[in-house]
Amino acid sequence: MEALKGRSIQGTGNTEEAWASSTLLRDLPETDLAGLLGDSARLVVVAPHPDDEVLGCGGLIAAAIHSGLQVLVVSLTDGEAAYACDPAWPPQRLAPIRRSELLNAVRALGGGTDNIAHVGIADGHIAVCIERAIDALAQVRRRDTVLVTWAKDGHPDHEAAAQAAQQVCARVGARLIQYPIWCWHWADPERADFLSNRARRFLLSASVQARKRAALLAFATQIGTSVPRPASPILPPHVLARFQRPYEVYLT
Ligand SMILES: [Zn+2]
Repeated sequence: MEALKGRSIQGTGNTEEAWASSTLLRDLPETDLAGLLGDSARLVVVAPHPDDEVLGCGGLIAAAIHSGLQVLVVSLTDGEAAYACDPAWPPQRLAPIRRSELLNAVRALGGGTDNIAHVGIADGHIAVCIERAIDALAQVRRRDTVLVTWAKDGHPDHEAAAQAAQQVCARVGARLIQYPIWCWHWADPERADFLSNRARRFLLSASVQARKRAALLAFATQIGTSVPRPASPILPPHVLARFQRPYEVYLT
């Protein structure tokens, strides 16, 4: 999530209780693995920062791996600037730790190193390095389904990642699905445009929920269980709660 947050990403944002009572969210049509992925040959999940893929799509990734589908997480940055002002977490220290957190998270979802591609764009710089992001997605093929953060998510890196994925998918004819992250923080739960007729709710089985919970725990520097603990963890409990629902939302 993190560095260089957008203008709308301030304060504590919406509570999960507010979303739980949202009629827009409650009334979303449901979908399943076949509905989302059809006859795709592979699921490619584009993550601006290590943790976005699990926050937004951890359940779908676990279900896809379990079904035998090929899955690739393309990690565009290492999220190394999350605590740039915290002397305990300079970027050069945080970057390799966040890579290992991502690997542990993907393992918790049933995958491993073969399921991850690191691109190494500087955190906060996807928009100015968008050609590198597009190049990193050059292996996307027509029969892939590509997941990426929502194009209007409110975070510059998330929106630039979406632009890169949109360009590549349009070029090769691959299916593109977007996942919301920061708009859960700032959007009005009763007027959220992103919960329009394109949004679908993907229910998570109990075993998939357990895998996603375990994967989220891998991001110790983000949830604040690392030593030392960051002064202001990016994913305190009230933020994490938005990603611990028994379903995920996709913009198809
Ligand atoms: Zn992010």
